[in-house]
Parts: sequence; structure tokens; C-alpha cells
Amino acid sequence: MEKKLIYFDYAATTPVDSEVLEKMLPYYKENYGNADSLHIFGRKAQTAVDCARDKVAELLGAKPSEIYFTSGGTESDNWAVLGGAYACKKRGKTHILASQIEHHAVLSAMERLEKEGFEIEYIPVNAGGRVEISDVEKRLKENTGLVAVMKANNETGAIQPVEEIAKLCKERGILCFSDCVQYVPHRNLDVNALGADVVAISSHKFHGPKGCGALYIKKGVGIEKLVAGGEQERGMRGGTLNVPAVVGLAHALELCYKNNQEREKRIKSLRDKFLDKVLSLDGVTLNGDFSKDEDGLASIINLRFDGVENTSFLYNMDLNGIAVASGSACASASLKPSHVLTAMGLSESEAKSSIRFSIGKDTTEEEIEYVANKCEEILQKIRAKR
Ligand SMILES: *Cc1c(COP(=O)(O)O)cnc(C)c1O
Repeated sequence: MEKKLIYFDYAATTPVDSEVLEKMLPYYKENYGNADSLHIFGRKAQTAVDCARDKVAELLGAKPSEIYFTSGGTESDNWAVLGGAYACKKRGKTHILASQIEHHAVLSAMERLEKEGFEIEYIPVNAGGRVEISDVEKRLKENTGLVAVMKANNETGAIQPVEEIAKLCKERGILCFSDCVQYVPHRNLDVNALGADVVAISSHKFHGPKGCGALYIKKGVGIEKLVAGGEQERGMRGGTLNVPAVVGLAHALELCYKNNQEREKRIKSLRDKFLDKVLSLDGVTLNGDFSKDEDGLASIINLRFDGVENTSFLYNMDLNGIAVASGSACASASLKPSHVLTAMGLSESEAKSSIRFSIGKDTTEEEIEYVANKCEEILQKIRAKR
């Protein structure tokens, strides 16, 4: 019998919905034109891109002209940070704020800016993994050009007060960027309600194809272009568009907005069942404090297993066919403790005994029970060896 595989790593990526794939296929086969070509093949592709842009804009509460397609969350984050910073520099503003818990796509771009002479300051988080508004306010300076705070953290699910931060920025004419890559797959985001000037999303986190994302840039907010090339995306992002993926992104986002509420309710009850079981085990703690729905996503459960190295826990989980993560997938090759957990005040060894379980729309009750039982088994096994 084939071993049952269980996927508890939805925060790393998600499977493409078959309905989404069906919508994409014609753009690989019959309608394979380059959206920039003027002939019939190109026009068909362009029409599909226009429809996708209209749909994404409508769902996010934006105008179609405010939506730019990219190669994913990382490019969107890079564009927002670098393009935003270079535009600010032209106005003499070179001070930038970013939360300590941003994704590496944002943090690495910040490091690059620092080498280029920008002054980067990091906003701390509290023990619950959330930025406090006073910590933003007291760091704002005359020459602050950009503030970057993600809407939901990819390791803990902690939700950030971006609405309030955006308000502060608006009063002072500061560009506000929010990485919403992890938020949008679970809660319907409206960019106007959020108030940020620039917002990043990524298709493969909400059952769309990998290698495709979007950046919302509010009208009138000038940010520099990042990818130089042809006149694609109104001259703001060169490169032939990945038409099938753009079509897939739009359809996946539509499905996600239609189902988010229902799905999160279900995911929340699964999360609670899982926590009931695992938190009753010895030396198991939930990283972060998510007593209220506004505080965190139900889909990400970050647990600390006292005295257990997460690498050996992961290995044992994998042996049982269970896919979980020690943190962000992008950093899983490194042996460094999670920057998100250490920012929350965890010690290096506490961070290194933490595991991220991220569940999704296809997670079942049986899987929850099975994984919770395996946690107990593996904990006993590892602890018995010491
Ligand atoms: C996954 C992720 C990214 C990167 O998106 P890719 O499309 O994988 O490049 C950026 N930010 C957050 C919060 C993420 O979870």
C-alpha cells in the first residue's frame, strides 16, 4: 500500500485548483500568443490579460490601471521596496522603516538599500508577534520615505495593524507598502480599507500557479520601475507576460474571495481541535498569542517543542509522510534560527525547537487527528533518546 502523504505546509505553497488549471490550459495550447503582438493570436492573449486585470482590480477594490502583473511575491516585494526607495530618494527621503518580521524578499531588498546608503530602521514586534503602532510612530522622521509592514506573517500568522500604520504614513506623505501575500489567501482584502499605497500578492499561495504575482500601486503614487525591458505593463515592467499564469491568478483569486469566509471557519475549528490535543502534551507551547480572530490567521500554527531540535522533528515527520516546516520555506535550507521567532523574544534554542504547521482548504479532520497523534509519538521517541 502506498504511504499516505499529509501536506501541512500550505504557507509554503498550495496545489493549483483543477478549475484554475482548466482556465489556464487554452492559453498554453490554442491561444498561445504574445499579449503584445498585434495579430489575432496576440489580441486573444491581450483580451485574456485585460479580463484578468479587471477581475483582480475589482476583487481588491482597485482600478485596473493600478494592477501590475509580476513573476511572484518576491518580485512584487522587491519592486515595492527598491522602486519605492529610489522614488523617495529623488525627493530627498532616504530613511526607511520595515518590521523585523518581514519576509526575506523584503529584508534582503532592505539590506541592498542599506549598502547603497539608505538608512534602514527595523520596527520590533511584541511577544505575540505583532507590531505596535507606537513603535512605528516614534521612529518616523522628517526624511522617512517608506514604511514596509506585512499584513500577515508567514511563520506565525500574526496579523499586523497596517490600517493604522497607513494612516500615520498618509498624514506625513510617506509611502506605505504592505506584503499581503499570506493574508489574501485567507481573508478578503480591500486595498482602500487597508489604506496602503502599494500591496503585493502571490498566486501560488492561493491555489494559483507558481511564478506569478501582482503589485497594486495606488494611482498617483510614483515608484520607479524595477524590470527594464519593453513597454509591457504600461512601460512599468518589461518582459512577455505569463498569460496562462495571469489567467490562473485571477481565477484563483476569485475562487478564494468567494470561499475565504467559509474556509476560514472550517480551518479554525480544525486548528482548535489540533491545539486541544497538542497543547495538552508536555512542553508544547503555541508561539504567538491569537486569542482573537483579528490577531492571527487560523491556518498557521507555530508550535515550540521544548528540548527538541526542529530538524530531527521534521525528519521524523517526513518519515511518517507528513510535510511541515521549521519556518519559511525560503530559509529552510539555512540552519539559522527564525528571525521572526527571535524578534518575538524567543531564545535561539527555543526558535530552533519550533515547527510551523500550516493547514488549508483540503485539510481533513482525520489528518488533524493523525498528525496530532504523530506529534505525541515523535516527541516521546526523541525525548526518550536523550
Ligand atoms: C511566499 C511569500 C513571499 C514570496 O512569494 P513568492 O511568490 O514565493 O516569490 C513573500 N512574502 C510572503 C509573506 C510570503 O509568504
